[in-house]
Amino acid sequence: MRETDGPEPVRASLADGREILFFALPGHQPDPRPDIRPLPDRAQLASEVRFDRATGDWVAVAALRQDRTYKPPADQCPLCPSATGAVSEVPAADYDVVVFENRFPSLSGARPDSDFVLPQPLDGQPVAADGYGRCEVISFSSDHDASFASLNHAHARLVVDAWRHRTRSLLALPEVAQVFCFENRGEDIGVTLTHPHGQIYAYPYLTPRTRSMLDRADAHRRDHDTNLFADILASERSQISRIVTGDELTTAFVPFAARWPVEVHIYPNRQVNNLTDLDDDELDSLTAVYLDVLTRFDSLYPTQLPYISALHQYSSDPAQQEGFFHIELMSVRRSATKLKFLAGSESAMDAFITDVTPESIAARLRDVDPASRR
Ligand SMILES: [Zn+2]
Repeated sequence: MRETDGPEPVRASLADGREILFFALPGHQPDPRPDIRPLPDRAQLASEVRFDRATGDWVAVAALRQDRTYKPPADQCPLCPSATGAVSEVPAADYDVVVFENRFPSLSGARPDSDFVLPQPLDGQPVAADGYGRCEVISFSSDHDASFASLNHAHARLVVDAWRHRTRSLLALPEVAQVFCFENRGEDIGVTLTHPHGQIYAYPYLTPRTRSMLDRADAHRRDHDTNLFADILASERSQISRIVTGDELTTAFVPFAARWPVEVHIYPNRQVNNLTDLDDDELDSLTAVYLDVLTRFDSLYPTQLPYISALHQYSSDPAQQEGFFHIELMSVRRSATKLKFLAGSESAMDAFITDVTPESIAARLRDVDPASRR
């Protein structure tokens, strides 16, 4: 078991002052060029967060996102490398993995003047606050036509290391309560850039789903004196029927009450709060199992599976100690030609209805023909 802090990125600045970080494979030396684009000044603090008194959830309001890039032609891809520093967000002849601040952030990248504390909605009045936080884009590869599943192990591990680096750095900011790394893949779920990439949101509050899962875990601790997610994991590992793949350090399974036509959760077999707590062997195992699951996804249908990949991470705050880092993957694809739309029951009531059993999804993913896997 080897502890690691992972690679340190090479830092540079984009024309409007945003930070860009180059993460490199062993033997590669990033070579950022000047970004010579005439970019307008960033609108600092153009977002706010509002508290919804009806549900107890915060909502981020970011009007400037209306102008964001929508399906640019391939020769204007903002994530392809730009050796001249003139035509994309990545001023370099090539790169392995880059992270930069989103030009159209849902949460402002500005830092508060002093330690920022989100106002507490105590007196029943409407509450709003500046939308502090940070939104970053992570490009998984300079290859426009790659996908996460097509990365080799070392390259995929570099993405995981970049996620860890950002998790550690962003959780250290006093205004940040949660760091969420995720990938939306496929036009079917509204992705406007096909270049393989993900996003990293650093929220000034706990997201509703995280808050409700922690509430469940706290109640479970009171009732049973055990960790809820560890118990779920142990139960899945003992039953086998919903296991998809895994090894001695990592387990991938379809959850007992899966909500999506395709849904897989990946847990390290040891409870940790977030990626920064995993050791080197666990990170290698997680990377291998993640790639395995994504490859199985793309073997289900003739076309690549649209999916959302969501890293559930928790800070070391005592209020989040029951959190168990894991990745939840989900897809809206019900068949080769049909998508599941989130309609009345799901969108309005958060009440999911599914027409496939979790056990049958697990069996299909388990039995993927290796010969058909790319
Ligand atoms: Zn591209």
